Amino acid sequence: MQVDYIIIGQGISGTWLSYYLQKENKSYIVIDNKLPDAPSRLSAGIINPITGRRHVAAWMIEELLSFSLNAYNEMGNLLNITAISRKNIIDFFPSAQMRDSFQKRVAEQANYLSLEETISYSDYFNYELGYGIVTPTYTAHLENILPEWRKYLHQNKKLIEEYFDLQFLELTDNYVQYKDITAQKIIFCDGTASAQNRFFNLLPFAPNKGEALFLNIKNIPSNYIFKKGMILVPLASPDSWWIGASYEWDFKHTDPTNEFREKTEMLLKQWLKVPYQITNHIASVRPATLERRPFVGLHPQYPQVGILNGMGTKGCSLAPYFAHQLVLHLCHNQPITPEANVRRFTNVLSRKTNN
Ligand SMILES: Cc1cc2nc3c(=O)[nH]c(=O)nc-3n(C[C@H](O)[C@H](O)[C@H](O)COP(=O)(O)OP(=O)(O)OC[C@H]3O[C@@H](n4cnc5c(N)ncnc54)[C@H](O)[C@@H]3O)c2cc1C
Repeated sequence: MQVDYIIIGQGISGTWLSYYLQKENKSYIVIDNKLPDAPSRLSAGIINPITGRRHVAAWMIEELLSFSLNAYNEMGNLLNITAISRKNIIDFFPSAQMRDSFQKRVAEQANYLSLEETISYSDYFNYELGYGIVTPTYTAHLENILPEWRKYLHQNKKLIEEYFDLQFLELTDNYVQYKDITAQKIIFCDGTASAQNRFFNLLPFAPNKGEALFLNIKNIPSNYIFKKGMILVPLASPDSWWIGASYEWDFKHTDPTNEFREKTEMLLKQWLKVPYQITNHIASVRPATLERRPFVGLHPQYPQVGILNGMGTKGCSLAPYFAHQLVLHLCHNQPITPEANVRRFTNVLSRKTNN
């Protein structure tokens, strides 16, 4: 088989990369082993313009928000699914300090923060200190997008469902060979696996473990995300909710823990006034990076090898934008945002070949 590109991974990064290559009429094949605990399969899909406890606007958020909204709507239309919904965040203040911090930030981030408490949520939640609103916030419905795009790839014979084994990859000056596939380039969208890959293992990955519970809750308004310490997110199917997540840089294993479950149940008991059932408890590892910026572009020593990775906690907003940018770079030689371009690590990546 001969194609322009081999893509490793069909998480959110590989999905968007293949989508934009398709739009450019390039030929490609995606190789993915559908890891059940890949973060793209367990994420809540939140696209939040505000980040952290200090309510700061997220990096590049204006561009990312408008780009993401169009991109997900466009993909939703193509696949005939709901790919994105607007779900503003009702941010219940967990402490007087957090309320003061939010109030101070409202003046500076008037685009995204507001204090209009026009609706009461006291039928559903206990909250004593009021709430702020983060708007506009969206959820990308990865539970619809990933399987539907996979079906599309499968129907068009663009998917190989197997483990990609790097030892079978050979590079020549002008192309790459993987088993019986010849391609101009191979692009790694394989999440945390890239941190062990001989081309990219010197990049400053900082894998971050996250746990969450899936819940069944009836009769609470599903047009909002609710937050109080943790974040409670409505999923695409009725009465399905997600609560999480933990952020752990230093973890001994990647399994779900009793500690997280007990802590979350304690919060739910204090916060929720309506009954809930836990339907699943998951853990996954985010492909985060030390600088909290993605890795996008071609290897400085091996231009036949590329990467779209390092999406960290924000894969849903970063992946469509940077997949598009990478495709424009590959097809039209357009530049990649310097803070995201993997060539900022040329020294580090070149060192590897000398070893
Ligand atoms: C609990 C939790 C909650 C999160 N919530 C949000 C959120 O609300 N909003 C947000 O924007 N982000 C969120 N994230 C982060 C987000 O999930 C990630 O940034 C994103 O999923 C990364 O996507 P990816 O496609 O780069 O990698 P991955 O999701 O890891 O996908 C990699 C793919 O490659 C495949 N693969 C790997 N190795 C191989 C191989 N050797 N052969 C074949 N296939 C292979 C895997 O099976 C997988 O399908 C969350 C993460 C966690 C853990």
